Amino acid sequence: MKAAGKSSGIGGQAVLEGIMMKNQDVYSVGVRKPDGEIEVHLSTYEGIGNKKLRKIPIIRGVISFVDSLVLGMKCLTFSASFYDEEEAQPSKADTLVQKLFGERAEQIVMGITVAFSIVMAVAIFMVLPYFAAALLRNVIVSDTVLAVIEGAIRLLLFIGYVLLISLMKDIQRVFQYHGAEHKCINCVENGLELNVENVRKSSKHHKRCGTSFMLIVMVVSIIFFIFIRVDSPILRVVFRVALVPVIAGVSYEFIRLAGNTDNKLVGILSRPGMWLQGLTTKEPDDSMIEVAIAAVEAVFDWRAYQGREPLDTEQEANADQENQGAWGQEEEAQDAQAGAESEEIEEVLEAESEPQEIEEVLEAEDEPQEAEKVQEAGA
Ligand SMILES: [Zn+2]
Repeated sequence: MKAAGKSSGIGGQAVLEGIMMKNQDVYSVGVRKPDGEIEVHLSTYEGIGNKKLRKIPIIRGVISFVDSLVLGMKCLTFSASFYDEEEAQPSKADTLVQKLFGERAEQIVMGITVAFSIVMAVAIFMVLPYFAAALLRNVIVSDTVLAVIEGAIRLLLFIGYVLLISLMKDIQRVFQYHGAEHKCINCVENGLELNVENVRKSSKHHKRCGTSFMLIVMVVSIIFFIFIRVDSPILRVVFRVALVPVIAGVSYEFIRLAGNTDNKLVGILSRPGMWLQGLTTKEPDDSMIEVAIAAVEAVFDWRAYQGREPLDTEQEANADQENQGAWGQEEEAQDAQAGAESEEIEEVLEAESEPQEIEEVLEAEDEPQEAEKVQEAGA
Protein backbone atom coordinates (compact mmCIF):
# COMPACT_ATOMS: atom_id res chain seq x y z
CA MET A 1 0.00 0.00 0.00
CA LYS A 2 1.14 3.52 -0.65
CA ALA A 3 1.04 6.28 1.94
CA ALA A 4 2.95 4.21 4.50
CA GLY A 5 4.61 6.52 7.00
CA LYS A 6 3.05 9.61 5.47
CA SER A 7 1.00 11.85 7.72
CA SER A 8 -2.72 11.43 7.15
CA GLY A 9 -3.41 14.87 8.60
CA ILE A 10 -5.96 13.49 11.03
CA GLY A 11 -5.59 13.85 14.76
CA GLY A 12 -7.66 13.36 17.82
CA GLN A 13 -7.85 13.02 21.53
CA ALA A 14 -9.45 10.82 24.13
CA VAL A 15 -12.68 11.93 25.78
CA LEU A 16 -14.83 10.26 28.43
CA GLU A 17 -15.55 6.71 27.17
CA GLY A 18 -14.65 7.67 23.64
CA ILE A 19 -12.47 9.61 21.27
CA MET A 20 -12.62 12.72 19.15
CA MET A 21 -11.16 12.57 15.66
CA LYS A 22 -10.55 15.62 13.50
CA ASN A 23 -9.90 15.97 9.80
CA GLN A 24 -9.52 19.58 8.59
CA ASP A 25 -12.60 21.44 9.86
CA VAL A 26 -14.71 18.35 10.44
CA TYR A 27 -14.59 16.39 13.65
CA SER A 28 -16.38 13.44 15.13
CA VAL A 29 -16.87 12.33 18.69
CA GLY A 30 -17.44 8.63 19.17
CA VAL A 31 -18.77 7.72 22.59
CA ARG A 32 -19.69 4.36 24.11
CA LYS A 33 -22.88 5.27 25.92
CA PRO A 34 -23.86 3.76 29.30
CA ASP A 35 -26.26 1.39 27.48
CA GLY A 36 -23.35 0.01 25.44
CA GLU A 37 -24.27 1.61 22.13
CA ILE A 38 -21.75 3.65 20.17
CA GLU A 39 -22.85 7.13 19.25
CA VAL A 40 -20.94 9.13 16.67
CA HIS A 41 -21.54 12.84 16.63
CA LEU A 42 -20.31 14.73 13.57
CA SER A 43 -19.76 18.46 13.50
CA THR A 44 -17.48 21.19 12.22
CA TYR A 45 -15.06 23.44 14.00
CA GLU A 46 -13.41 26.18 11.99
CA GLY A 47 -11.31 27.49 14.80
CA ILE A 48 -9.87 30.90 15.49
CA GLY A 49 -7.79 33.03 13.12
CA ASN A 50 -8.09 33.36 9.35
CA LYS A 51 -6.45 31.32 6.59
CA LYS A 52 -3.54 33.74 6.16
CA LEU A 53 -2.57 33.54 9.83
CA ARG A 54 -2.79 29.78 9.70
CA LYS A 55 0.01 29.69 7.13
CA ILE A 56 2.56 31.68 9.15
CA PRO A 57 5.04 29.43 10.99
CA ILE A 58 4.98 29.72 14.80
CA ILE A 59 1.72 31.72 14.75
CA ARG A 60 -0.10 28.73 13.27
CA GLY A 61 1.18 26.71 16.23
CA VAL A 62 -0.32 29.10 18.75
CA ILE A 63 -3.64 29.08 16.89
CA SER A 64 -3.59 25.30 16.67
CA PHE A 65 -2.83 24.99 20.39
CA VAL A 66 -5.70 27.23 21.46
CA ASP A 67 -8.01 25.47 19.00
CA SER A 68 -7.13 22.07 20.37
CA LEU A 69 -7.82 23.26 23.92
CA VAL A 70 -11.20 24.74 23.00
CA LEU A 71 -12.30 21.82 20.84
CA GLY A 72 -10.92 19.32 23.35
CA MET A 73 -12.94 20.86 26.15
CA LYS A 74 -16.05 20.96 23.96
CA CYS A 75 -15.76 17.28 23.07
CA LEU A 76 -14.98 16.28 26.63
CA THR A 77 -18.08 18.10 27.86
CA PHE A 78 -20.14 16.42 25.15
CA SER A 79 -18.94 12.94 26.05
CA ALA A 80 -19.41 13.61 29.76
CA SER A 81 -23.03 14.61 29.11
CA PHE A 82 -23.84 10.93 28.52
CA TYR A 83 -22.54 10.07 31.95
CA ASP A 84 -23.66 13.11 33.89
CA GLU A 85 -26.22 11.90 36.44
CA GLU A 86 -27.00 15.35 37.76
CA GLU A 87 -27.84 16.66 34.32
CA ALA A 88 -31.57 16.62 35.00
CA GLN A 89 -31.22 19.07 37.87
CA PRO A 90 -28.99 22.02 37.03
CA SER A 91 -27.06 23.45 39.97
CA LYS A 92 -27.54 26.99 41.26
CA ALA A 93 -24.36 28.06 39.49
CA ASP A 94 -25.66 26.65 36.20
CA THR A 95 -28.92 28.52 36.55
CA LEU A 96 -27.13 31.77 37.36
CA VAL A 97 -24.82 31.47 34.35
CA GLN A 98 -27.82 30.68 32.16
CA LYS A 99 -29.62 33.78 33.44
CA LEU A 100 -26.63 36.05 32.90
CA PHE A 101 -25.51 34.92 29.48
CA GLY A 102 -28.56 33.24 27.98
CA GLU A 103 -27.83 31.34 24.79
CA ARG A 104 -24.13 31.96 24.85
CA ALA A 105 -23.79 30.50 28.36
CA GLU A 106 -22.17 27.27 27.20
CA GLN A 107 -19.58 29.06 25.07
CA ILE A 108 -18.75 31.48 27.87
CA VAL A 109 -18.34 28.75 30.48
CA MET A 110 -16.11 26.90 28.01
CA GLY A 111 -14.03 30.03 27.44
CA ILE A 112 -13.61 30.62 31.16
CA THR A 113 -12.61 26.98 31.73
CA VAL A 114 -10.01 27.09 28.95
CA ALA A 115 -8.65 30.45 30.16
CA PHE A 116 -8.46 29.16 33.74
CA SER A 117 -6.60 26.01 32.59
CA ILE A 118 -4.08 28.11 30.67
CA VAL A 119 -3.49 30.44 33.65
CA MET A 120 -3.01 27.48 36.00
CA ALA A 121 -0.67 25.69 33.61
CA VAL A 122 1.44 28.83 33.10
CA ALA A 123 1.59 29.48 36.86
CA ILE A 124 2.57 25.91 37.76
CA PHE A 125 4.84 24.96 34.90
CA MET A 126 6.37 28.30 33.88
CA VAL A 127 6.42 30.67 36.86
CA LEU A 128 6.75 28.26 39.80
CA PRO A 129 9.99 26.65 38.52
CA TYR A 130 11.46 30.13 38.15
CA PHE A 131 10.79 31.01 41.80
CA ALA A 132 11.98 27.59 42.96
CA ALA A 133 15.28 28.02 41.11
CA ALA A 134 15.56 31.63 42.27
CA LEU A 135 15.80 30.35 45.86
CA LEU A 136 19.26 29.09 44.89
CA ARG A 137 20.38 32.47 43.60
CA ASN A 138 22.49 33.11 46.71
CA VAL A 139 24.32 29.81 46.32
CA ILE A 140 24.66 29.61 42.54
CA VAL A 141 26.16 32.53 40.67
CA SER A 142 25.95 31.28 37.10
CA ASP A 143 22.76 32.34 35.30
CA THR A 144 23.19 29.44 32.87
CA VAL A 145 23.30 26.88 35.68
CA LEU A 146 20.24 28.49 37.26
CA ALA A 147 18.39 28.36 33.94
CA VAL A 148 19.22 24.66 33.59
CA ILE A 149 18.07 23.97 37.17
CA GLU A 150 14.88 25.88 36.50
CA GLY A 151 14.33 23.80 33.37
CA ALA A 152 14.99 20.57 35.27
CA ILE A 153 12.41 21.55 37.91
CA ARG A 154 9.95 22.36 35.12
CA LEU A 155 10.49 18.96 33.49
CA LEU A 156 10.20 17.10 36.79
CA LEU A 157 7.00 18.97 37.66
CA PHE A 158 5.49 18.04 34.33
CA ILE A 159 6.51 14.38 34.48
CA GLY A 160 5.35 14.27 38.10
CA TYR A 161 2.01 15.69 37.05
CA VAL A 162 1.56 13.07 34.33
CA LEU A 163 2.57 10.31 36.78
CA LEU A 164 0.14 11.61 39.37
CA ILE A 165 -2.89 11.72 37.08
CA SER A 166 -1.98 8.34 35.59
CA LEU A 167 -2.53 6.88 39.08
CA MET A 168 -6.17 7.99 39.04
CA LYS A 169 -8.56 5.15 38.26
CA ASP A 170 -10.86 7.12 35.95
CA ILE A 171 -7.93 8.42 33.95
CA GLN A 172 -6.81 4.86 33.14
CA ARG A 173 -9.71 4.35 30.75
CA VAL A 174 -9.08 7.76 29.16
CA PHE A 175 -5.49 6.67 28.58
CA GLN A 176 -6.73 3.44 27.00
CA TYR A 177 -8.88 5.47 24.61
CA HIS A 178 -5.85 7.67 23.97
CA GLY A 179 -3.99 4.48 23.01
CA ALA A 180 -6.86 3.47 20.73
CA GLU A 181 -6.74 6.85 19.01
CA HIS A 182 -3.00 6.53 18.27
CA LYS A 183 -3.35 2.91 17.19
CA CYS A 184 -6.08 3.80 14.68
CA ILE A 185 -4.03 6.58 13.12
CA ASN A 186 -0.94 4.35 12.98
CA CYS A 187 -2.97 1.55 11.44
CA VAL A 188 -4.24 3.87 8.69
CA GLU A 189 -0.87 5.59 8.13
CA ASN A 190 0.91 2.25 7.84
CA GLY A 191 -1.43 1.26 5.03
CA LEU A 192 -3.28 -1.46 6.94
CA GLU A 193 -6.99 -2.02 6.55
CA LEU A 194 -8.79 -0.32 9.43
CA ASN A 195 -10.30 -3.12 11.50
CA VAL A 196 -10.14 -4.18 15.15
CA GLU A 197 -7.46 -6.78 14.57
CA ASN A 198 -5.09 -4.45 12.69
CA VAL A 199 -5.66 -1.61 15.13
CA ARG A 200 -4.93 -3.94 18.06
CA LYS A 201 -1.49 -4.79 16.65
CA SER A 202 -0.57 -1.18 15.70
CA SER A 203 1.65 0.93 17.94
CA LYS A 204 0.08 3.05 20.67
CA HIS A 205 2.76 5.70 20.23
CA HIS A 206 2.45 8.49 17.75
CA LYS A 207 4.82 11.31 16.83
CA ARG A 208 2.17 14.03 16.57
CA CYS A 209 0.86 13.66 20.09
CA GLY A 210 -0.15 16.25 22.66
CA THR A 211 2.00 14.53 25.29
CA SER A 212 5.09 14.86 23.09
CA PHE A 213 4.10 18.42 22.32
CA MET A 214 3.97 19.37 26.00
CA LEU A 215 7.34 17.75 26.65
CA ILE A 216 8.87 19.67 23.75
CA VAL A 217 7.36 22.87 25.16
CA MET A 218 9.25 22.15 28.41
CA VAL A 219 12.53 21.51 26.58
CA VAL A 220 12.22 24.50 24.25
CA SER A 221 11.50 26.76 27.24
CA ILE A 222 14.76 25.61 28.88
CA ILE A 223 16.69 26.65 25.76
CA PHE A 224 14.81 29.96 25.59
CA PHE A 225 15.59 30.95 29.16
CA ILE A 226 19.24 30.00 28.96
CA PHE A 227 19.63 32.65 26.26
CA ILE A 228 17.09 35.26 27.28
CA ARG A 229 18.48 37.10 30.27
CA VAL A 230 17.24 40.22 31.96
CA ASP A 231 18.32 41.79 35.21
CA SER A 232 14.93 42.76 36.58
CA PRO A 233 13.23 39.91 38.48
CA ILE A 234 9.83 41.30 37.49
CA LEU A 235 10.77 41.22 33.81
CA ARG A 236 12.00 37.65 34.21
CA VAL A 237 8.53 36.59 35.36
CA VAL A 238 6.87 38.68 32.64
CA PHE A 239 9.02 36.96 30.00
CA ARG A 240 8.11 33.54 31.35
CA VAL A 241 4.46 34.34 30.81
CA ALA A 242 4.66 36.45 27.65
CA LEU A 243 6.91 34.04 25.77
CA VAL A 244 4.63 31.04 26.28
CA PRO A 245 2.92 31.56 22.89
CA VAL A 246 6.29 31.83 21.13
CA ILE A 247 7.57 28.70 22.87
CA ALA A 248 4.37 26.84 22.00
CA GLY A 249 4.69 28.03 18.39
CA VAL A 250 8.28 26.82 18.06
CA SER A 251 7.38 23.48 19.66
CA TYR A 252 4.52 23.07 17.22
CA GLU A 253 6.91 23.47 14.29
CA PHE A 254 9.05 20.68 15.70
CA ILE A 255 6.10 18.30 16.16
CA ARG A 256 4.92 19.13 12.65
CA LEU A 257 8.35 18.36 11.28
CA ALA A 258 8.56 15.16 13.31
CA GLY A 259 5.19 14.02 12.00
CA ASN A 260 6.24 14.45 8.39
CA THR A 261 9.82 13.25 8.27
CA ASP A 262 11.84 10.09 8.70
CA ASN A 263 14.95 12.08 9.61
CA LYS A 264 17.11 10.21 12.15
CA LEU A 265 17.93 13.24 14.32
CA VAL A 266 14.28 14.27 14.54
CA GLY A 267 13.53 10.67 15.42
CA ILE A 268 16.01 10.72 18.29
CA LEU A 269 14.71 14.07 19.55
CA SER A 270 11.19 12.62 19.50
CA ARG A 271 12.21 9.70 21.74
CA PRO A 272 11.60 11.29 25.16
CA GLY A 273 8.12 12.32 24.05
CA MET A 274 7.43 8.77 22.91
CA TRP A 275 8.64 7.54 26.27
CA LEU A 276 6.27 9.87 28.10
CA GLN A 277 3.45 8.58 25.90
CA GLY A 278 4.13 5.26 27.56
CA LEU A 279 2.46 6.84 30.60
CA THR A 280 -0.44 8.59 28.86
CA THR A 281 -1.43 5.76 26.53
CA LYS A 282 -2.53 2.29 27.61
CA GLU A 283 -3.54 -0.77 25.60
CA PRO A 284 -7.27 -0.43 24.79
CA ASP A 285 -9.72 -3.34 24.76
CA ASP A 286 -11.61 -4.26 21.58
CA SER A 287 -14.76 -2.38 22.57
CA MET A 288 -12.69 0.81 22.83
CA ILE A 289 -11.05 0.13 19.47
CA GLU A 290 -14.53 -0.16 17.90
CA VAL A 291 -15.44 3.30 19.18
CA ALA A 292 -12.17 4.74 17.85
CA ILE A 293 -12.68 3.16 14.42
CA ALA A 294 -16.22 4.55 14.23
CA ALA A 295 -14.91 8.04 15.04
CA VAL A 296 -12.13 7.79 12.42
CA GLU A 297 -14.44 6.53 9.69
CA ALA A 298 -16.91 9.34 10.30
CA VAL A 299 -14.36 11.97 9.25
CA PHE A 300 -11.74 10.18 7.18
CA ASP A 301 -11.93 8.08 4.04
CA TRP A 302 -9.00 5.80 4.82
CA ARG A 303 -9.73 3.60 1.81
CA ALA A 304 -9.19 6.54 -0.56
CA TYR A 305 -6.11 7.63 1.41
CA GLN A 306 -4.61 4.15 1.10
CA GLY A 307 -5.52 3.97 -2.59
CA ARG A 308 -8.04 1.18 -2.07
CA GLU A 309 -11.24 0.47 -3.94
CA PRO A 310 -14.20 1.93 -2.01
CA LEU A 311 -15.93 -1.44 -1.53
CA ASP A 312 -14.77 -4.79 -2.80
CA THR A 313 -16.66 -7.72 -1.27
CA GLU A 314 -20.20 -8.84 -1.96
CA GLN A 315 -20.89 -9.11 1.74
CA GLU A 316 -20.07 -5.50 2.33
CA ALA A 317 -22.17 -4.43 -0.64
CA ASN A 318 -25.20 -6.30 0.69
CA ALA A 319 -24.75 -4.88 4.13
CA ASP A 320 -24.53 -1.47 2.54
CA GLN A 321 -28.03 -1.83 1.12
CA GLU A 322 -29.50 -2.68 4.50
CA ASN A 323 -27.56 0.22 5.81
CA GLN A 324 -29.49 2.65 3.61
CA GLY A 325 -32.72 1.73 5.36
CA ALA A 326 -31.25 2.07 8.79
CA TRP A 327 -29.85 5.50 8.06
CA GLY A 328 -33.34 6.78 7.32
CA GLN A 329 -34.18 6.55 11.01
CA GLU A 330 -30.99 8.08 12.16
CA GLU A 331 -31.45 10.90 9.70
CA GLU A 332 -34.77 11.94 11.22
CA ALA A 333 -33.31 12.02 14.68
CA GLN A 334 -30.33 14.00 13.48
CA ASP A 335 -32.57 16.51 11.70
CA ALA A 336 -34.51 17.14 14.88
CA GLN A 337 -31.23 17.66 16.66
CA ALA A 338 -29.93 20.06 14.04
CA GLY A 339 -33.00 22.18 14.52
CA ALA A 340 -32.37 22.46 18.24
CA GLU A 341 -28.71 23.38 17.89
CA SER A 342 -28.54 26.15 15.36
CA GLU A 343 -24.90 27.16 15.80
CA GLU A 344 -23.64 23.68 15.11
CA ILE A 345 -23.86 22.13 11.71
CA GLU A 346 -25.09 18.62 12.19
CA GLU A 347 -24.21 16.39 9.33
CA VAL A 348 -25.81 13.11 8.58
CA LEU A 349 -23.26 10.48 7.81
CA GLU A 350 -23.67 9.39 4.23
CA ALA A 351 -24.29 5.69 3.98
CA GLU A 352 -22.41 5.39 0.66
CA SER A 353 -19.19 6.82 1.96
CA GLU A 354 -19.39 5.18 5.38
CA PRO A 355 -19.73 1.44 4.81
CA GLN A 356 -18.16 0.61 8.14
CA GLU A 357 -20.87 2.23 10.22
CA ILE A 358 -23.15 -0.71 9.47
CA GLU A 359 -22.94 -2.70 12.69
CA GLU A 360 -23.62 0.24 14.86
CA VAL A 361 -26.63 1.37 12.87
CA LEU A 362 -28.09 -2.11 12.68
CA GLU A 363 -27.83 -2.27 16.43
CA ALA A 364 -29.65 1.01 16.63
CA GLU A 365 -32.46 -0.50 14.56
CA ASP A 366 -32.94 -3.18 17.18
CA GLU A 367 -33.54 -0.59 19.82
CA PRO A 368 -36.67 1.48 19.33
CA GLN A 369 -35.73 4.06 21.97
CA GLU A 370 -32.56 4.94 20.08
CA ALA A 371 -33.99 7.90 18.19
CA GLU A 372 -35.23 9.51 21.39
CA LYS A 373 -31.83 9.18 22.94
CA VAL A 374 -30.12 10.90 20.09
CA GLN A 375 -32.44 13.83 20.52
CA GLU A 376 -31.83 13.98 24.23
CA ALA A 377 -28.11 14.12 23.68
CA GLY A 378 -28.39 17.16 21.49
CA ALA A 379 -30.48 19.13 23.92
ZN1 LIG B 1 -1.72 11.53 21.75
